[in-house]
Amino acid sequence: MKYYSLNHKAPKTTFADAVVRGLAPDKGLYFPESITPLPSSFFETIEDKSNTEIAFEAIKQFIVPEIPETILKTIVEDTLSFDFPVVEINENISTLELFHGPTMAFKDVGARFMARCLGYFNKTNPNEVTVLVATSGDTGGAVANGFLGVKGVNVVILYPSGKVSDIQEKQLTTLGQNIKALEVDGVFDDCQDMVKHAFMDKELTDRLQLTSANSINIARWLPQLFYYMFAYKQLKSKHKDIAFSVPSGNFGNICAGMVAQKLGLPIKHFIAANNANNTVVNYMSTQLYEPKPSIQTISNAMDVGNPSNFIRIQELHDNDFEALKENLSSYSYTDNETRTALLELYKTYNYIADPHGAVGYLGAKTYLEHNDVHVVFLETAHPTKFLDVVEDVIEKNVSLPSQIEAIMHKEKAATFIDSYEDLKKFLLK
Ligand SMILES: *Cc1c(COP(=O)(O)O)cnc(C)c1O
Repeated sequence: MKYYSLNHKAPKTTFADAVVRGLAPDKGLYFPESITPLPSSFFETIEDKSNTEIAFEAIKQFIVPEIPETILKTIVEDTLSFDFPVVEINENISTLELFHGPTMAFKDVGARFMARCLGYFNKTNPNEVTVLVATSGDTGGAVANGFLGVKGVNVVILYPSGKVSDIQEKQLTTLGQNIKALEVDGVFDDCQDMVKHAFMDKELTDRLQLTSANSINIARWLPQLFYYMFAYKQLKSKHKDIAFSVPSGNFGNICAGMVAQKLGLPIKHFIAANNANNTVVNYMSTQLYEPKPSIQTISNAMDVGNPSNFIRIQELHDNDFEALKENLSSYSYTDNETRTALLELYKTYNYIADPHGAVGYLGAKTYLEHNDVHVVFLETAHPTKFLDVVEDVIEKNVSLPSQIEAIMHKEKAATFIDSYEDLKKFLLK
């Protein structure tokens, strides 16, 4: 499979090259040259297949033979070593829990998959690769965990000092081995700027093979299509049309769902559930795409004013606005509405959601006002990752899961930096 740049000013390339580069040389996002639907027998018998069989069959065309089948099977198996249960909320709404991985957010799957692909490509590469990543919280933990112990890969994570939760900081700073944390005196945008600067710094790129691990990387983006298949497998016996409500920030997850749909998965409709960051909501009503600075909310992993994957969504719909509108609805909710939804889920259905899942639930409810389908909202993080908000709303203590408990007592190890020069010195030493 070849991949092309959505800016159309860079040569087509291989899966391996696209993974190592992250972004194409013309700064465009990579996109697969073709998406061939799976045979209908695949979906007819999906309930008889294991998750790893489903995932392997679904992603194979994008990766084999660059990664041989047997190795891809192992990568898929290692990546998916936890559960993806669907929990019924009421007759018309279910949730797909994506938080059973090691860092308890859905980003685990993409990060683990990408780490293993890079590890494979790097077996034949004598030079070490340095993965440089800025995080506002969840990405860093998932990347750190996913890449832990991968040979030939060093990971450097920049996070804003005092701006991530205690749990998130522990997830970034306590692993050791090939994972290094840099605590930046600044906000997330400062971390992001330093990373961008590093990628353009010739002195650095001459001496180090730098790569990124953010959601634009195809090896993080594509495996997210598995979720939609796992949900379908569990809900097929309902014999009802299925729509997905996806709490969206950079729109990578929902966009992967649309790839699953192209592969033939019968999905009736997508709902992009947003917080106050409503760039796409506005676009869907005005056709004007106007990126804005991000607004801080209680569902902070979705505080994105210029969702980078939206261009992939347009490409998947042949840049045809009417076709997109048929397939996607987008709604925006305030923090107060989100809190009310959290409380309703708890009081009425005895379900403890996190703020992102609560936004997804709101999206499901809005869509159901005028449509007769079964809506699955994705629960993208475990509620304890947003303990302050959740406990405050439901007025109850939530117990820490074992993955989190285990790291809370570990010693933090991070290097404090307050300028780009500090970062450069750190990388070159
Ligand atoms: C990253 C993240 C999102 C947003 O996902 P996108 O793929 O960027 O749209 C939603 N919820 C949680 C908990 C996240 O960490």
